[in-house]
Amino acid sequence: MNLDEKIRTIPDFPKKGIMFKDITTVLQDAEALKFCIDSFYEYYKDKQITKVIGIESRGFIIAPALAYRLGVGFVPIRKPGKLPAEKIRQEYQLEYGTDAIEIHTDSIRNGDRVLLHDDVLATGGTMKAACSLVEQLGGEIVGISFLIELAFLNPRMKLSNYDIHSLVSYASE
Ligand code: AMP
Repeated sequence: MNLDEKIRTIPDFPKKGIMFKDITTVLQDAEALKFCIDSFYEYYKDKQITKVIGIESRGFIIAPALAYRLGVGFVPIRKPGKLPAEKIRQEYQLEYGTDAIEIHTDSIRNGDRVLLHDDVLATGGTMKAACSLVEQLGGEIVGISFLIELAFLNPRMKLSNYDIHSLVSYASE
C-alpha cells in the first residue's frame, strides 16, 4: 500500500508556516487503517511488548487498536491536568516556551516492555519527554512508532537510544 498517497497535507494549519500532516484521510479508509495496524503488529508481535502507550491526542487513535491486537494494556500519556490519579510530569522545550506531559505512576511497572506511539514525529521533543516518563517508572522502551516521520527535522538525533519505526518518512517538506 502506498500510504503516502492517503496522507493529506494542509498548509498553514494550525498556524502560518506549518505543513500539517492530516491522518484523518488514512483513518477513514478501511484498507489504509488495516494496513497501519497490521504493519505495526507484524513489526512488534515477537518483541514481548507488555504495554502500549499513546500520546495525546492523535496517538490515542492507533495505540489502543495496536494494544488490543498485541493482547496487552493501553496507557495514555496526557497533557497537564487531565489525569486524575497520582502522576509524574515531564517538561520539554518548544520553539517558544515549554510544554509538559503526564503519566499515571501506577500505569507502568518495573520491567514492563513498552512500545510508545504517536501520529507524527517532528522535532522529537514530545517523544523524548514521553520516554523519560516511562524510564522514570522503570519501564524498558522496546520501541517507538509513528505513522509519519518528518525526517528533514532530524528527530532521530534526539532519540538515538531507541528503535524507531515509522510507516512514512518525509525527506523534505
Ligand atoms: P515534536 O515534539 O516536535 O516531535 O512534535 C510532535 C507532536 O506534534 C505530535 O504529537 C504531532 O501530533 C504534532 N505535530 C508536529 N508537527 C506536526 C505536523 N507537521 N503535522 C501534524 N502534527 C504535527
